[in-house]
Amino acid sequence: MKAVRFNGVGKPVSIDEVARPKPGPGQVLIRIGGAGVCHSDLHVMEEELGFQTGFTLGHENAGWIAELGQGVSGFKEGDAVAVYGPWGCGHCHACQLSMENYCENAASIGVSGGGLGADGGMAEFMLVPAARLLVPLGTLEPRLAAPLSDAALTPYHAIKRALPLLTGDTTVVVLGVGGLGHMAVQLLRVLSTARIIADDVDEAKLRQAKQLGADHTVNTRDVEAATVAIRDIVGPRGAVLVLDCVGIQPTFDLGGRVLGRDSRWTIVGLGGGHHDFHFGSTPYGCEMCTPYWGGRAELMEVIAMARDGRIHAHTTEFPLEQAADVYAQLKAGKIAGRAVLIP
Ligand SMILES: [Zn+2]
Ligand SMILES: [Zn+2]
Repeated sequence: MKAVRFNGVGKPVSIDEVARPKPGPGQVLIRIGGAGVCHSDLHVMEEELGFQTGFTLGHENAGWIAELGQGVSGFKEGDAVAVYGPWGCGHCHACQLSMENYCENAASIGVSGGGLGADGGMAEFMLVPAARLLVPLGTLEPRLAAPLSDAALTPYHAIKRALPLLTGDTTVVVLGVGGLGHMAVQLLRVLSTARIIADDVDEAKLRQAKQLGADHTVNTRDVEAATVAIRDIVGPRGAVLVLDCVGIQPTFDLGGRVLGRDSRWTIVGLGGGHHDFHFGSTPYGCEMCTPYWGGRAELMEVIAMARDGRIHAHTTEFPLEQAADVYAQLKAGKIAGRAVLIP
């Protein structure tokens, strides 16, 4: 079968012929319906993150059950499923709470999940190590569900934790409305009554954010001008939540200038920016956090919302063979919503 392979930091991806895996006891083989193309793959390809080379990329996956390993019950061949991305040990306290994204034994497992150390879903088939990592899709199409497993789950997990702050008289600032951000705007609209300011350097993405429920949009190409524009909207209270889906230095700088007191500053973008957190550098009462991905049960919640049409990943589909070109387009900021590779 064909697979998109990670060949080491600084090297281009390749489409290689690899053997179709065979599920062992407890494992499940998925026929991939779609694999989301995520910005964090660019970090895998360009930075030394400690991954071994030679695995199949793709950590946002959905498809159909192709083959059940010995002892697997509760699923049958042909069932549509999403693959939960962060693979933990399955038995520590965090994993028992379904939060495998915070597995206590992550360091000793050696891989972060399929497409992140282990073979992922940019291939015709994908081996999933345990049935607990699958979420049934029901009537939702795998190609639409695939990006939800990260692009929706990550902001959902982050927003859920901030919900007690999001009353109807508050303002949320979403920095970056690409893959994660365009889902964040929809999730905020569904989950809260807060006012939403969507921010990006790309006018097309801002127009999309407005259609998806943002109350205001601000172009952040000029950080100084954007600071003034956002402060005009939020007033002296400031933003109660800044959700930074980019995480580069300019978005850190901007976020820090528009937050109010007793607020939350949530960074989910892996852009490598930083903030010196101490008294005086940050508004009083501001909690700063870097949540990672989301829980299995939260993925079930996200899938349920998508199945009902309350949220929708805006996708552009490409054949698997075009992976290298799609990554180049993503890097250039040319993908609106989420690119999905179809094998
Ligand atoms: Zn991702
Ligand atoms: Zn664990």
